[in-house]
Order: sequence, then structure tokens, then C-alpha cells
Amino acid sequence: MKITILGCGTSFGVPMIACKCPVCLSDDTRNKRLRASILVTKGDKNVLVDTATDLRAQAIAGGIEHVDAVLYTHPHAEHTHGIDELRRFNWLQNSSIPCYGSPETLKVLRDNFKYIFVLQGKPGWQPNLTTHEIEEPFELFGMKIVPVEVMHGDLPIFGYRFDDFAYITDFSEIPEESMELLGGLSVMVIEALRVEPHPSHVTIAQAMEYVEALKPKRAIFTHMAHGFDYETVMKELPPGMELAYDGMVIDTGD
Ligand SMILES: [Zn+2]
Ligand SMILES: [Zn+2]
Ligand SMILES: [Zn+2]
Repeated sequence: MKITILGCGTSFGVPMIACKCPVCLSDDTRNKRLRASILVTKGDKNVLVDTATDLRAQAIAGGIEHVDAVLYTHPHAEHTHGIDELRRFNWLQNSSIPCYGSPETLKVLRDNFKYIFVLQGKPGWQPNLTTHEIEEPFELFGMKIVPVEVMHGDLPIFGYRFDDFAYITDFSEIPEESMELLGGLSVMVIEALRVEPHPSHVTIAQAMEYVEALKPKRAIFTHMAHGFDYETVMKELPPGMELAYDGMVIDTGD
């Protein structure tokens, strides 16, 4: 399985509009963070997690030529507003694209993007998507995919486990039942927003505590704000923990 970090930034992205902090002004490409999304590639199948606001730029940068399924973590704007870019993949593939998510997430998508799901114009005018509500583990392209419920402030949302890899973004707490679904991971990509506390996101210290409890072989922090200079923070992290950067490719070896 191959995982590509398409974006490791928080909702504002890094650099933030009109911010003159050292990270936003940095020339280091590893400090340029598009909105959070990953691509999971298994064999010849591509599974996109979320349709971030920056999807077009991410697909071009990553050389993505097809999207075989989309998994949604939750309906927040920066994780969904690239949905219209899926139209290009419909054209290339000449087929609809299945989108998976919790019933609650898919309901918000259907309400927010009526022109896609309700109005149904001429083919090609809007994305051609099918929605599939999931609450339990399911098989997709030879992978066992486990939805992992986490709390994002008051909102229960999904992280996903794909065999021995897990992607957990946008959370403030992982409930005990979900911790049990995250043992024995080879790689975990997990949110670490910033140093200061936030009501619906974890700090890097809180994220590190979860990593220490779950003990994945390799932990990679994502959904980061502009407080983290890549090089500075990387020097401070213990072995087995690292920061994501846009374009990073992780091979789990299976
Ligand atoms: Zn800044
Ligand atoms: Zn969110
Ligand atoms: Zn987010």
C-alpha cells in the first residue's frame, strides 16, 4: 500500500493569506501545506480521503490520473470543497465515482451540494457520484477498511484504518472503543494542529500521547497550522515520529 500526503495543512492552509510569520514566509517547500487529504494506492486502485479545497492542485502535483473511490472523514469545508474537481475524473473514467462516509456526513454533503446530488443536470455538467453510507468495516479493492469514530469537538467523525495503516485527522479525543481499533499499526498519520490548546483539535503534545499509547511503528503528524517550522520541529521529535509534508509518499511494504 502506498500513501501520498496530498495536503498536511489546517483549514487556512500554510502560508495563510496575508500572514507574515517566519513559517508562512519560509522558502522551505516542506512549510507549504495545502488542505488535509491523502491518497491511498493499493495495486492499481486509488482511494482519495476527502476532497480538499486544494484538490485540483493536489491532483496535478501528485500526477493523479484516476480516483476509484472517495472516503469522507467529515463534512467541514476544507475537507469537502474540492468535490467539483471529481468531475474531471468522471470524464477520464467515463463512470461514476463511489463516495463513502457516515450517514451524517453524506447527508450534509447532499444538502450542501444539491447541484450534484439532487438537481442532476446533463452528464458532465456536474460530478457523477454515488453515495454509500458506512458504519461498519468493509472490503474495498482488497483492503479491509475500518471506520474509526473520533470526537472532533462535539462532532463524531470518522478516521479510517486500511489494513495496518490508519489516518486520523481533525480530532480532540479518541474514545476507548476506537483506541481498540488502532492497535498493531505499521504507519499512522495523525493530526497535530499546533502547540496551543484548541477545543476541537489536538495539540502536538496530545497527539504524541496518543502515539505513545497506540505504538504504531511510524507516526506522521498532519493537519498542521503555521506554528510548526518543519526543520525545527523535526529535530525535536523522538524516534518514530515525524512531520508530514505535501507530496510525501509512504510505502507500507504490502
Ligand atoms: Zn503564518
Ligand atoms: Zn474539521
Ligand atoms: Zn480539518
